[in-house]
Amino acid sequence: MKLLEYEAKEHFRRHGIPTPQGRMITTPREARDYTAELGKPVVIKAQLPVGGRGKAGGVRFADTPEEAAEVADALLGMRIKGLTVEKLYVEEKLSIVNEIYLGVTVDRRNKAYVVLASSEGGMDIEEVAAKTPERIVRHLVDPVHGLRGYHGNLVAKRLGYGGRKMLQFAAFVESLYELALEMDAELTEINPLAEVEDGFTAADARLNVDNNALFRHGELEERLLESYQSELTEREMKARSKGLTYVELDGNIGIIGNGAGLTMATLDTVMLHGGRAANFLDLGGGATPERIGEAAKFVLGDERARALLVNVLGGITRCDHIAEGVVAARREVAVEKPIVVRMMGTNEEEGRKILKEAGVETLGSMEEAAELAVKLAEAS
Ligand code: GDP
Ligand code: MN
Repeated sequence: MKLLEYEAKEHFRRHGIPTPQGRMITTPREARDYTAELGKPVVIKAQLPVGGRGKAGGVRFADTPEEAAEVADALLGMRIKGLTVEKLYVEEKLSIVNEIYLGVTVDRRNKAYVVLASSEGGMDIEEVAAKTPERIVRHLVDPVHGLRGYHGNLVAKRLGYGGRKMLQFAAFVESLYELALEMDAELTEINPLAEVEDGFTAADARLNVDNNALFRHGELEERLLESYQSELTEREMKARSKGLTYVELDGNIGIIGNGAGLTMATLDTVMLHGGRAANFLDLGGGATPERIGEAAKFVLGDERARALLVNVLGGITRCDHIAEGVVAARREVAVEKPIVVRMMGTNEEEGRKILKEAGVETLGSMEEAAELAVKLAEAS
């Protein structure tokens, strides 16, 4: 779950991480009043669980309370990356000397948290990572020993800080790591960590909590559904409400599998044959013909899916049920789209017969099926 900047900053402050003075607001009037209260120029930022707000025009400045109201009026209701801005964060504008990147995330290969830091923070950190990875300092945290004070110093030194600045920066590293641990964060980051005249402050804040750990964070668990609304597409939300496990991707083949392993393998095989999935749906175990029909209809209903690839192992799920479901879905969906089915296991022969009579192609191997689906999607 991705917390919004203003929420993340509350957690930062709890851990003693310096942040600019600010407040979450929802109306232009509040923006004006708070700017007047601060009595100085402000930055006004759209509160959305996505990065790159700055580039999308979601971060703006205002010198006076009146200007703050105008900016807030322009930002509220704005669409950024498919989301509508409903909340803003108003905070004192900083005089930034240098923009640093500091993050703590999970290094899955090493099964440990890793601290990432770069003196080239700001809006283009992904580019820095891609083009000049040597400018990113990495410190892998030993899960047994944790992060010690001198580790923070080391990271600060590698960024070129000495003396008081080194100690100040090291304190950020330690606090951010403690926050990550406490909140079961998948990622927490400060970009930019603003170097100002007398030290550092967190100009931006991100905190993504591992959904599997939400049972340890009751106050967040209640917000899970709300957060899905910003993380899932409309069709993914609809699928969820029907109890279907459905994920949208960016290709042109709709995929149905049963079980996460087989479904992922199907995606890989499609990729291997030069295709890309538009979406995938995991049927799980023991689906009825009605349920399979509903699933197939749903996947075919994705406009971007130009072909449907069904790859199932008949165990508890019966192949004849798969066939009935697919045929029913094809009948009900108005548009004609090529369908390729690969299935094996329980009632395989009966299933193949039903499909054959309906004119649906069945194949014996996953490779052949994937190859054909790629070809058909390209041709249609
Ligand atoms: P993001 O684009 O979603 O990551 O939003 P940020 O909160 O990181 O803001 C984007 C950029 O706006 C930062 O990299 C800064 O360059 C600039 N910015 C944000 N807050 C301030 C501020 O208080 N003072 C100044 N001078 N620049 C700021
Ligand atoms: Mn940022």
